[in-house]
Amino acid sequence: MTPEAEGFLRRAIALAAEARSGGNPPFGSLLVGPDGAVLIEERNTTLTEGNISFHPELKLAVWAAQHLAPEVAAGTTMYTSCQPCGMCSGALARSGLGKVVFALSGEQLDGLKPAGGFPEVPLEGPALYDEARVPVDGYYS
Ligand SMILES: [Zn+2]
Repeated sequence: MTPEAEGFLRRAIALAAEARSGGNPPFGSLLVGPDGAVLIEERNTTLTEGNISFHPELKLAVWAAQHLAPEVAAGTTMYTSCQPCGMCSGALARSGLGKVVFALSGEQLDGLKPAGGFPEVPLEGPALYDEARVPVDGYYS
């Protein structure tokens, strides 16, 4: 990892500390453009804003999809204090961002908190294929 990349990661870690001191879970992220300039920074605000989706990685992915042309988004790098969770990874896959660089791995994070985590929500399906396919049929062609 380059010294410049380490600097951006250290900024993400500082944002995580700011999130924690502001009353939120300790996670922070920033998005760096193709020219190496910081485009936007975010902190986790799930508790203070009462929104389970307000992870910094997800907020940056949404911002990028709303504000960046696809060719610019593809040249960006997200630096984040921790490996993105499943929710954020799904959004990142749809965002068109170029790359994600993280500090703590998900496994390392798990080692820093009590065992457990979020329970799986039971899924039931598929069902009603002939009806459910109607609004989808032809959309992607
Ligand atoms: Zn997340």
